[in-house]
Amino acid sequence: MAEIGRSIVKMDVDELLNLLNKALADEWLAYYQYWIGAKVVKGPMKDAVIGELDLHATEELTHAQLLVTRIIQLGGTPILTPAEWLNMTNCGYDAPTDPYVEEVLNQNIKGEQCAIRTYSSLMDITREGDPVTYDIILRIITDEVEHEEDLVALKEDLDLMLARRR
Ligand code: FE
Ligand code: FE
Ligand code: MG
Repeated sequence: MAEIGRSIVKMDVDELLNLLNKALADEWLAYYQYWIGAKVVKGPMKDAVIGELDLHATEELTHAQLLVTRIIQLGGTPILTPAEWLNMTNCGYDAPTDPYVEEVLNQNIKGEQCAIRTYSSLMDITREGDPVTYDIILRIITDEVEHEEDLVALKEDLDLMLARRR
């Protein structure tokens, strides 16, 4: 464990590790929700939506990687079993049981909005006490804000296209 690296953290490290593990659970669920959504989604603009969902899946996995690296740096144990994803998640998991594009987009927009709120509160908690974690969370939340915007823009295009057809 990086002892000096850990010693500069001026907050409760165990509490921080728990929050980072909760975020890690969210990222794996977000990854799978995007990945499986890209497989089953149906309807207009399907190809554009699949491209975005697949890209976001990859980016959620990168977030999981960033979180695990920090958890280990802080001497913590990353969650080791998928059963913990559902126990520890902040944002839950929405199965794409209705594969229609608009429904899948809505589910993922909801997920991104929850992620943005979760990371925003993590930034508030770490800003003073752990600037290294703060910097990692800032990088992640920057992607989540972009994800929300990408999905909302796709939904707007979908609405416009459907309106023109009427
Ligand atoms: Fe993410
Ligand atoms: Fe995201
Ligand atoms: Mg994107």
